[in-house]
Amino acid sequence: MIAEVIVDVAAYPIDRPFDYTIPALFQGFIEPGMRVKVPFGPRKVVGYVIDVKETSGLDETKLKPVEQLIDFEPVLSPELLELSEWLAEDTLAYRIEALQVMLPAAMRAKYEKFIVIIRPEAVTDEAFLSMLNGRERVPLKAADTPGLLKLLKAYTTDGAVRVETLVKQQTAVKKVRMIHMQDKRTIETMLAGLNKQAAKQRDLLEWMLTHAGESMEAGRLMKEAGMSATVLKAVIDKGAATERKTEVYREPETVHMKNSSAPAELTANQGEAVRQVTDAFHEERDSVFLLHGITGSGKTEVYLRSIEEVLKNGREAIVLVPEISLTPQMTSRFKERFGDQVAVMHSALSAGEKYDEWRKIHRKEVKVVVGARSAVFAPFENLGILILDEEHESTYKQEDNPRYHARDVAIWRAAYNRCPVILGSATPALESYARASKGVYELLELPTRVKEQALPSVTVVDMRNELKDGNRSMFSVPLAEAIRARLAKHEQIVLFLNKRGFSSFVLCRDCGTTIQCPNCDISLTYHRATENLKCHYCGHEEQVPHSCPECESEHIRFFGTGTQKAEEEVARLFPEARVLRMDVDTTRQKGSHARLLQKFGEGQADILLGTQMIAKGLDFPNITLVGVLAADTTLHLADFRAAEKTFQLLTQVSGRAGRHDLEGEVFIQTYTPEHYAIELAKAQLYEPFYDMEMRTRKQFGYPPFYYIVNIQFSHENLLKVVEYAEKAARFLTEHLGPDSVLIGPTASAISRVNNRYRYQCLIKYKKEPKLTETLQALIRHYRTGWIKDGLLLSVDKSPVVIY
Ligand code: ADP
Ligand code: ZN
Ligand code: ZN
Repeated sequence: MIAEVIVDVAAYPIDRPFDYTIPALFQGFIEPGMRVKVPFGPRKVVGYVIDVKETSGLDETKLKPVEQLIDFEPVLSPELLELSEWLAEDTLAYRIEALQVMLPAAMRAKYEKFIVIIRPEAVTDEAFLSMLNGRERVPLKAADTPGLLKLLKAYTTDGAVRVETLVKQQTAVKKVRMIHMQDKRTIETMLAGLNKQAAKQRDLLEWMLTHAGESMEAGRLMKEAGMSATVLKAVIDKGAATERKTEVYREPETVHMKNSSAPAELTANQGEAVRQVTDAFHEERDSVFLLHGITGSGKTEVYLRSIEEVLKNGREAIVLVPEISLTPQMTSRFKERFGDQVAVMHSALSAGEKYDEWRKIHRKEVKVVVGARSAVFAPFENLGILILDEEHESTYKQEDNPRYHARDVAIWRAAYNRCPVILGSATPALESYARASKGVYELLELPTRVKEQALPSVTVVDMRNELKDGNRSMFSVPLAEAIRARLAKHEQIVLFLNKRGFSSFVLCRDCGTTIQCPNCDISLTYHRATENLKCHYCGHEEQVPHSCPECESEHIRFFGTGTQKAEEEVARLFPEARVLRMDVDTTRQKGSHARLLQKFGEGQADILLGTQMIAKGLDFPNITLVGVLAADTTLHLADFRAAEKTFQLLTQVSGRAGRHDLEGEVFIQTYTPEHYAIELAKAQLYEPFYDMEMRTRKQFGYPPFYYIVNIQFSHENLLKVVEYAEKAARFLTEHLGPDSVLIGPTASAISRVNNRYRYQCLIKYKKEPKLTETLQALIRHYRTGWIKDGLLLSVDKSPVVIY
């Protein structure tokens, strides 16, 4: 028998399956979807079996055998294997990248390099011998000085030592020590025969007598019995109890939040939405529903009811939620409804915890997964529905190979499983709404809030007037007054700022110099907590200078506003307020996000101040005021989606106020109050915004009227990057049809990152039959030649951010 294997080597021309013979030992064991260890050239690598067949078309005596089995049952289903093929082609990635993205990181193979001594007598150098320290095999890392590396090179050329790569596969399964106590009679016999001096052991045996026949985790037993490990061991040695390692799941820290239980009756609109979705489910139609409902209109309830119906029929459900709204509040709604049939997957989990959640799905112990982007690959084999909440979110797009969009993957899996998809949002992506308008998706509308609460009243404050009136604070007079009023009434306030750090940059007031990253074409960001400057692109850090590096002036100041600065302003203006700050800096620690939210939910603070991450999901009854400190920050991004993003963000943020019985109020501070994104977000008018924005997109030839492909080039040498970008542009112009437009090559918006110069080409097209073929040919040029010259090239067929 022959196994077709995709090997873990991402390089052209290896992107195809290789045939390996299956040794007699593994015959009948190896199935598609299992991982194996195979020889590849001089190396041993992990491979994914994608097919098992009787014969190879090749000379079978020349084939190498599969060396080892890594899995004893397939980790990838036939569906996921097929999906990987489509994914690799659609995103122009290597097949191996498409396979790996489907499995939790803990299952990814690790390769470690070792120095192995072949002829000990030939290794005589003192320094090298002292590094070896008597060992015959040492990690390559041990030879980390230029001197040692030089010796290593000489010895390997000479054949005295060899560098070997070992595949390491951590099992990542967590095990605990379980103690099983014997029956009463056995323990009593032991007590009777116990030495008088062994008082501690006697105490433990007496305790065990009351737990005879039970099993308990060792740590807990010692704590409850008040005994040390030594005493426990003595008693086990005597035979009063046995111990055994047992596999367990890690239990991620969960914060419990109270949610209203299932409402007795759906509203008419909700009922209609659920009916259409469940009809599609029963008729095995792979319909895509766009559930357009304003915040608080009861979309989540529609998801829950649809899933209920799917589970009742023995099928499974995937619910995707953007990372930042994957709050305990969100997930506990699913857990309350479906109990321990729910697995949760988000990036705050450790690699081990993610692996455990994955195993629960793989072993069919759960039926619902609620998770961020990668949960779309959950290994269910009987899917009945896929749901994307906040479907417009850009985090559904992966910005690494394979550059997939979770929406596309969900739609693919729905087609494979003949089940429906729900895309839910208060502010659907323009692409999605356009598809719904054309009837490609089915539109479901929830136009009113469930409890008929009025939408919060929204005031737009023109900050130019504030400045004219001499107010230089980041708080306008009306917003400051509103905050004071809420503080007096003990109601809660959310303040939203679309930036992180203390201020965006450091500026010299005499010569106008800003402190730039030495590696990237971008200003450094000041961080108060560490008192230094950081580059958010390459990670470069440096001390804040005391004087301007250009003119030596000491008038060098932090400029702009960030959450830290805002926190100080709040403290100055409202000294009595208790403030919680929530941004990337305060939520770096595991679980801190949930803890901050819980604190706010319990009323331990009056003001929650934060970035994007507070815009979503927050649902606390006591929030009656939302302030957006600077609405313009997203509006001026060099991005054709700037207006759409601003509209989405403002709508989301406004939705946080007055969700329950208390009336809500929203203030939006801006320097451009007349912009349609701001005016229409104020009234939460999605359709007029859609019409307006579609007109602009049409005029400038942007999606959804045209598709865009972004091709990014980078090189350490500016002349080289220009040379290759031009070469690629010529190639594209020659091969693409006359209706496609090529823009560029031009320097990217951020023209240098990490000391690499960046150029880009955009392809705009409506219909381009030769697109995939041409891009593949371009990538082939790159992988077989240009890459060796230090060029990096990436192709993104559905870019969501272009920088
Ligand atoms: P969305 O997801 O659209 O923001 P939710 O599903 O969170 O809306 O609903 C908003 C609030 O209304 C929640 O507290 C929810 O429990 C409640 N709710 C939803 N549907 C109903 C209903 N049919 N009757 C009463 N309350 C409901
Ligand atoms: Zn200066
Ligand atoms: Zn940098």
